[in-house]
Amino acid sequence: MTTPDPRRRVPRTDHLLAEPALAAAARRLGRDRVKQAVTGAQQRARSGEIAPEAVADAALAALPRSVTGLRRVLNASGVLVHTNIGRAPLSDAAREAVALASGTCDVELDLATGARGKRGTGALDALRAAVPGAGDVHVANNGAAALALVASALAFGREIVVSRGELVEIGDGFRIPELIESTGARLRPVGATNRTHPRDYAEAIGPDTGFVLKVHPSNFVVTGFTRSVGVGELGGLTRPDGSAVPVVDDIGSGLLAPHPRLPGEPDVTSTLAAGATLVTASGDKLLGGPQAGLVFGGPGLGAELVQRVRRHPLARAMRVDKLTLAALEASVAGPPTPVRLGLDATADALRDRAEKLAATLAGDGIDAAATGSVSTIGGGGAPGVELDSAAVSLPESFAADLRAGDPAVLGRLEYGRCLLDLRALAPADDDELAAAVRRAARE
Ligand SMILES: *Cc1c(COP(=O)(O)O)cnc(C)c1O
Repeated sequence: MTTPDPRRRVPRTDHLLAEPALAAAARRLGRDRVKQAVTGAQQRARSGEIAPEAVADAALAALPRSVTGLRRVLNASGVLVHTNIGRAPLSDAAREAVALASGTCDVELDLATGARGKRGTGALDALRAAVPGAGDVHVANNGAAALALVASALAFGREIVVSRGELVEIGDGFRIPELIESTGARLRPVGATNRTHPRDYAEAIGPDTGFVLKVHPSNFVVTGFTRSVGVGELGGLTRPDGSAVPVVDDIGSGLLAPHPRLPGEPDVTSTLAAGATLVTASGDKLLGGPQAGLVFGGPGLGAELVQRVRRHPLARAMRVDKLTLAALEASVAGPPTPVRLGLDATADALRDRAEKLAATLAGDGIDAAATGSVSTIGGGGAPGVELDSAAVSLPESFAADLRAGDPAVLGRLEYGRCLLDLRALAPADDDELAAAVRRAARE
């Protein structure tokens, strides 16, 4: 009697692909990816590494959980708007809106008449309602696109007067001055790094001035012997022919109205009220929405200039997609965004959550304790602002294992401990956070 060679009992590829679990995986992940996993598992069986009966399970285990290579990250860093993990997380309402818009939808169709409709009116109406002082608003791909579009439409071949203290690098090596010059506008820097006066602007105005630009230093603070000129001090500047010089203020964060916890952070409503002709901002910082760039115009000249920006050829190249429009509308008109909720969370509420979490984890034998913490706003704006927060403190060695998990958890290292700050996390995420810590403890 001979024992059959187990290698001959390795199931065939078409049989494996027909197994319900693998067939379902193929519908979710694509047939090629599943076939690859199947082939790999068959090879392991042929080499005797696994039993022929285990091939299907081995193939399933080798499959990624999702078709995207991106992994979910729980933001326990204490940085409310963290650029490296995708800035603002969307609200449930915005996710729902994105899901709806991801099919075919009436983004540019008037269903009443069947004719072509205006694109993105829902998002624009929501923004106008949120900033009643605005005469008009345009949406582009991101804050940098908004600024580039304004420079192209209003200052191509002309000069933009800007303070030397506001020639900002925004991140990843990108600089506002280089961005602006790439549009064909010329920069006319005025003042000194630490001090610029109203007269510096006035003296630089000439027949070639396109506009005066203010850039909010959203990622650094200059202290000491400093002077900068507020947007309110720049009204009424005119070119030699008497025409008004527009004042464009790039505020960065996208705060639509003042927030009591961020008294130094500029917002669209106040900046327009102070006299800015145009205000540019990002959608995915303190506004708490999707990546987008907003161009608000004040009444009168501002609204006219928004029209000019909207009709510029580059506006088509920097146009946002329907997913962004849907998420933006829901973020502005819908329930408070996660960023807003994180900003508004009280230190008491955060401490309660930290104590509960630490107690359940300690009950599992993990060296966890609740501790006070300080959170920051992050690349989104409000540099230097610190908010009292609370965290679960773990041994430092947890940090790497937490980052390797799925979902990954991004904590913060401080004084030789790994802190999981709760400010940027929704209370609904606490259970998932605890489960991730338990998994890391088993590593
Ligand atoms: C963030 C920021 C930008 C760039 O906006 P993106 O949306 O990242 O393109 C430009 N200006 C200021 C002041 C900013 O803070």
